[in-house]
Amino acid sequence: MRYPRLLPLLLLLGVLLPAHAQARAHHVRHLIVVLDPGHGGGDPNEKYVGAVDASGTLVEAHLTFLVATRAAKDLRSMGYTVFLTRKSVNLQANYPLRDLNRDGTIDQLDDYDARTLFANRHHADVFVSIHFDGAAGDPSMHGTHGYYCPNRPFWKKSKRLASILTASVSKSLTASGYASPNNGIGTDVADRVPQRFADYPWFFVLGPSWKKRITGTAMPGALIESLYLSSPRDVTALRRPATIPALARGYAQGIRAYFGGKTTR
Ligand SMILES: [Zn+2]
Repeated sequence: MRYPRLLPLLLLLGVLLPAHAQARAHHVRHLIVVLDPGHGGGDPNEKYVGAVDASGTLVEAHLTFLVATRAAKDLRSMGYTVFLTRKSVNLQANYPLRDLNRDGTIDQLDDYDARTLFANRHHADVFVSIHFDGAAGDPSMHGTHGYYCPNRPFWKKSKRLASILTASVSKSLTASGYASPNNGIGTDVADRVPQRFADYPWFFVLGPSWKKRITGTAMPGALIESLYLSSPRDVTALRRPATIPALARGYAQGIRAYFGGKTTR
């Protein structure tokens, strides 16, 4: 009488054990990188293209997409899983247009929200927002600098990420034949551009959640200003075919260095 009663249990164990072993194997997963190419098209009434050079031909939204696409390729060949917040060079992240933050309007806040929600939904281990800067009054400003948000639980990791990335990007540019300085990092609060809301002094893609405005990312992140589109020397460099691949390599190698060379967890 005892064996027939044990039989279903043994059968059950036979089914469960391999499944459990399988589940353990799946726990070793590739690290997930979300790259966020800054700006983008979409609503023609909104100026989402970001900085533009003096000739009007180098557009931040396009350059960020080119760099991100190339960096994604580099990172995938290293063994990372990579997702981009934008699907096309001409589209913003919030596409099709949705009122993601449920504040009753569809505006640029929803576009920022699309980027952070995307990173959370894809369980990213790291979030990297790729930008180019423009300093209207000062064409002598050039080189790479980065930002992190000090008001997050993982701010130390974000700070380290920003620091590694600015160093890696400027090093890669220099290796490609364009001697470009690493201008270091700062907090997003310290950015010279006036913030949209006085009571939210952070970058929307880096800062904490704020009801009906933005959902903060659940992982460390940094925003990097790759080069200045207002700098004649940076713009000249960007017209060389080697520069976009060098920027992309700088991001990819920097992200790998942030993970200490590891590609899985
Ligand atoms: Zn930008």
